[in-house]
Amino acid sequence: MATKRRVVVVGAGPGGLTTAMILARRGFEVTVLERKDTVGGRNAAIRMGPYTFDTGPTFLMMKNILDEVFQEAGADVDAHLQCTALDPMYRLQFPGFALHPTQDLARLKAEIEGIFPGKSGGVDAFMANESRRFKAMLPCLQMPYPSLLSLLSPRLLAVLPKLSLGKTVFENLRGYFGNDDLALAFSFQSKYLGMSAWDCPGLFAMLAYIEYATGVWHVRGGLSEISEAMATVARSHGADVRLGAEVESLRLDGRRVAAARLAGGGEVPCDDIVVNADFAWAMSNLLPPGTLRRWSPEALRRKRFSCSTFMIYLGLDRTFDLPHHTIYFAENYRRNVDDIFHRGHLSDDTSFYVRHASVTDPTLAPPGHSAVYILVPVANLRADIDWEAQRGPFRQRVLDTWRRREGLPDLEPHIRAEKVIAPPDWENDYNVHIGATFNLAHNIGQMLYLRPHNRFEELANCYLAGGGTHPGSGLPTIYESGRITANLISRKHGVAFETHNLAM
Ligand SMILES: Cc1cc2nc3c(=O)[nH]c(=O)nc-3n(C[C@H](O)[C@H](O)[C@H](O)COP(=O)(O)OP(=O)(O)OC[C@H]3O[C@@H](n4cnc5c(N)ncnc54)[C@H](O)[C@@H]3O)c2cc1C
Repeated sequence: MATKRRVVVVGAGPGGLTTAMILARRGFEVTVLERKDTVGGRNAAIRMGPYTFDTGPTFLMMKNILDEVFQEAGADVDAHLQCTALDPMYRLQFPGFALHPTQDLARLKAEIEGIFPGKSGGVDAFMANESRRFKAMLPCLQMPYPSLLSLLSPRLLAVLPKLSLGKTVFENLRGYFGNDDLALAFSFQSKYLGMSAWDCPGLFAMLAYIEYATGVWHVRGGLSEISEAMATVARSHGADVRLGAEVESLRLDGRRVAAARLAGGGEVPCDDIVVNADFAWAMSNLLPPGTLRRWSPEALRRKRFSCSTFMIYLGLDRTFDLPHHTIYFAENYRRNVDDIFHRGHLSDDTSFYVRHASVTDPTLAPPGHSAVYILVPVANLRADIDWEAQRGPFRQRVLDTWRRREGLPDLEPHIRAEKVIAPPDWENDYNVHIGATFNLAHNIGQMLYLRPHNRFEELANCYLAGGGTHPGSGLPTIYESGRITANLISRKHGVAFETHNLAM
């Protein structure tokens, strides 16, 4: 590049950091502006005394995408991070039985046969069909959708018959196993997108396949270490990653973004800007009223959003005989899902997930102690729930349910550190629009061309990276969004690059 192109990235979440490290490696002058005093966003660490927790992501899938984006930034992920595939991947705790999903399919089938005689054959059909779907779909997720015409790409047209249009994830899975509980064991992953398996498009049956095919990985020290490593790599190529740098607004010059204005005063000029802050929050807060049409605050009110989560992080002075990840299904799972996604109220009987990573990773809690993370999917802030009144009682109900289901004694005397994040906290402390932790929903009407474009269609030099743009929420797809955006900016400026993203 004759003159260095200045790229400003708003937000040091996984999406922004991916773009930043790749562009910095390609010679761009990159400035990352992060409002918090640590990198990572929803993927940052929470540290309380001797205990370390991940704020959000705890399951890393498709580690190969992480390997690739590090390579494209000139780095070796395994030199920065100690990653381990978990076996079993997690425990699924149903009211009457437990399953221990593993990539060892012979073991998985034997366990299924022991509980559901004659039903394990569904595993082979599921793996074969979903593998075909995934292989056809992956390049479609890796390409950008800048125009309506891109919907006519031969790749996408070829995959259309494989999309199971008109079917839900649950229906797809029920088809393989002929049993509701088994269908649930392979379809609860819709919650990764913050959606109900009874609403989520059938093609996302491939989420469970991705787990079985590529594993569920832990990173020593927590998944937040990935964000720290990305910032290290970006800085090693000269990127300026500024913490405590809150962007108050974007200064426009016509339809171009001229600069990011900082809350403390001053501004950072840019040739191109990448918005990694939560898409809907950013569009509702960073631009002058009347700037946007398709994605205006009014238009966003008509869009569908994911659920939220109620989080409890506990540092305890005792250990537990529990696996790394356990997912607890409510007695009436369907009713709980409808409470979250349709009725918008708090269930008495709720599903939840407990992450007990200190059992395999001694860096997260001192010997004889545990770091426990509890995630409860709940309705986002569109529901009329009085969180001020509910925060304490709901926390108590969740802890009581966990104790009852595991036969644990009173936990209160053992709690040495505690933090709760309720849906309003996601909005107020993390800038997450309506507390919808997994962004815009992933219904067909909000995907591909119909999702906010990586090269943001409403402004001339603005790009997006993160869960609110294409391909969607979840770490691998977010890394992919960051890479697509880096590649689009490189191409715009005629900078040659090598990429593993074969769709570009
Ligand atoms: C509870 C929870 C559990 C999850 N579990 C998983 C999981 O197990 N596996 C998985 O793959 N995915 C998971 N996800 C989904 C997803 O991977 C993460 O949410 C991910 O961190 C989103 O990345 P992002 O880059 O889109 O945004 P964020 O992580 O939200 O990053 C955006 C950044 O922008 C910053 N920012 C916002 N406003 C401004 C401003 N005005 N100025 C400057 N900076 C600003 C924020 O501080 C933040 O650092 C989970 C999410 C949550 C919330």
